[in-house]
Amino acid sequence: MKALVMTEYKKLEFMDVPTPEITSPTEVLVRIKAAAICGSDVHGFDGSTGRRQPPIIMGHEASGIVEEVGSLVKNFTKGDRVTFDSTIWCGTCPYCRQGKVNLCDDRKVMGVSCDEYKQDGIFAEYAIIEERILFKLPEGLDYAQAAMAEPAGVAAHAISLAPPLLGEDVAVVGTGLIGLLILKLLRPITSGLIIAFETDKERRLKALTSGADHAFDPRDPDLVQKIADLTGNAMLDKVYEAVGASAPINTALDVVKKGGTVVLVGNVSPRVELPLQKIVTRQIRMQGSCAISGEYPAVLKLMASGKLVVDDLISKKAPLSEGQIWFDKLYNREDNLLKVVLLP
Ligand SMILES: [Zn+2]
Ligand SMILES: [Zn+2]
Repeated sequence: MKALVMTEYKKLEFMDVPTPEITSPTEVLVRIKAAAICGSDVHGFDGSTGRRQPPIIMGHEASGIVEEVGSLVKNFTKGDRVTFDSTIWCGTCPYCRQGKVNLCDDRKVMGVSCDEYKQDGIFAEYAIIEERILFKLPEGLDYAQAAMAEPAGVAAHAISLAPPLLGEDVAVVGTGLIGLLILKLLRPITSGLIIAFETDKERRLKALTSGADHAFDPRDPDLVQKIADLTGNAMLDKVYEAVGASAPINTALDVVKKGGTVVLVGNVSPRVELPLQKIVTRQIRMQGSCAISGEYPAVLKLMASGKLVVDDLISKKAPLSEGQIWFDKLYNREDNLLKVVLLP
């Protein structure tokens, strides 16, 4: 089969590799129809995260069609349209048994190679997927849309850890793809204010069409006063941080109310500077959010019913053979691209 292999950092080769084969009776061979590039692939592309060590077929956001099933596969047959979890979880550890599959003790992420493991991903014509992490696509959802189920699931999981009450005022810091999806999912939940903080002007405009009532540049020196004015000095109940660096986390802590919650879903920087006293004395809850744990069926339903629109977040669909071009553009932050979907 053809695959996009990262043979060295920042170098992707569209080449022939052996087609993977079913080796366990619970596996399914999926023909990949749409494969989206994740920010974590782009950050891993230069070696800075240590989680995409070459050679590796990257990618974990995909959809496709079942080509072949193992002898013990019960719920899928050839021809089913599917997507699948980016996390391969074991199903038997204490976390999996509690349904917290994102915290699995034996967790592997598709398309990641790090010091602990190597797991090829989905920038290829075929991938082998365990039945337990597969989901059928509802009618009316196309493959490119379905490849957005993974980032939409990440956004939904972050909200699920600290969902706003009906009238609460909330904010999203960083309106890249995940931030925009959080905005879109928050809109029907709260009648309160939804505020976006984003340094890029174009993305602030995008935030306003994705559910935000206001969008501010976090470098605005009067930012805290503006939020105080908008909320009658109450500040914000919940803030979702979707970058993962010192400055945006500090923005979140500047605008959250006493006793409020900051959900941390971004993790660009492995270490950040935190204003400890501000967190302790104002009793702020800091909540980490990792991946997806049970949100796939809900986001697939929301997308298929048109309640969560993702088409405007897909900047480009391109053939898998053009992978290098689109990774380079994303890496160099050209054209303000949101999601690029590669088609094998
Ligand atoms: Zn991703
Ligand atoms: Zn497990």
